[in-house]
Amino acid sequence: MASSGGPLGVLCALREELAVHIAELDHDETVDVAGMRFHRGRIDGQEVVLVLAGMGKVNAAIAATLLIARFKARCLVFSGVAGGLDPALSIGDVIIAEHVIQHDAGYTAADGFVPYQPGFLPFFNPTDALGLSAHAALLARARLALEALTLAPLSQAAGGAGRAPGIHFARILTGDQFVASEPLRERLHREFSAAAVEMEGAAMAQVCEAFGVPWLVIRVLSDLAGRDSHMDFAAFGAEVSLACSRILRTLLPVLSAP
Ligand code: SAH
Repeated sequence: MASSGGPLGVLCALREELAVHIAELDHDETVDVAGMRFHRGRIDGQEVVLVLAGMGKVNAAIAATLLIARFKARCLVFSGVAGGLDPALSIGDVIIAEHVIQHDAGYTAADGFVPYQPGFLPFFNPTDALGLSAHAALLARARLALEALTLAPLSQAAGGAGRAPGIHFARILTGDQFVASEPLRERLHREFSAAAVEMEGAAMAQVCEAFGVPWLVIRVLSDLAGRDSHMDFAAFGAEVSLACSRILRTLLPVLSAP
C-alpha cells in the first residue's frame, strides 16, 4: 500500500503546531474530509499534505488513514508538543520516537492495570510485542541529518532552561489523557523507560504499520507532565513551533529518500 512517489503526510493535533508548517507551504490547496482540513502543497520543493487532526488517538487514526489511503502519503510524520517524563529533560527539548507504546491500552485485573499490545489480549490472542519501533534506516538517516543542528535556547518566559534545547531519540508514550500528575509521570517513566508522553503518536504509528508506511514522531516538550513547570504557553507556542519547523525542514530530504 505504501506509495513510493506520494507526498509526505504531516499530522498535528493543535492549531499552534500546524501554523508554522502552513506558513512554509507553497501553493496551499485545501480539501475537507471527515471534519479535517488537509493542506496540499510543497515545503522546500517537497510535496506534502498537512492536517490538523485534533487531539487523541482516534483523531490521529482517522487522519493517518486518510493521508495514506486517500492522499497516497508515502511516509507520515507527527509534529507537535508533548509532556516530559524523564527528569533529566527540560521544556523545549526535542524527542524523536525510536519506539512508541499506547500506555493506556491493556487489561485491568484485581491487582491493577497491565499494559498490553492494542488489539491483543493475553487470554485471547497473546503476543510478546509491546509498542512499535520506528523504521531503523529512517531513524539512522534522521540522526545523521540532525547531528549538526543547534536549536535556539527558549526564552525564560517560555520555560527555557537557559541552554540550547537537546534533540534526543527515545521512547514516547501515547494515551487518551493529558498527564499532569507527578505520581503518574514518575510511574510512566519508571515502568516504560519513556522520555515523553502525548496523545497521538502511537495511534498514527499503528495505522502506518497496518499499511506498511514508514513513520516518524517529533515532539517538543511543552510541559513536564506534573513536575513544576511555570511556563507561559502563549510565549512558548510560537518559539516551540519554530523548533518543529527547523527539524522538519532539516529532515525533509531524509524523509523524501526512497
Ligand atoms: N492547547 C493546550 C495544550 C494542549 S496539550 C494549552 O494551551 O494548554 C495536549 C496536546 O499536547 C495533545 O495533543 C498531546 O499530544 C500533547 N501533550 C502535551 N503535553 C502533554 C501531556 N503532559 N500529557 C499528554 N499529552 C500532552
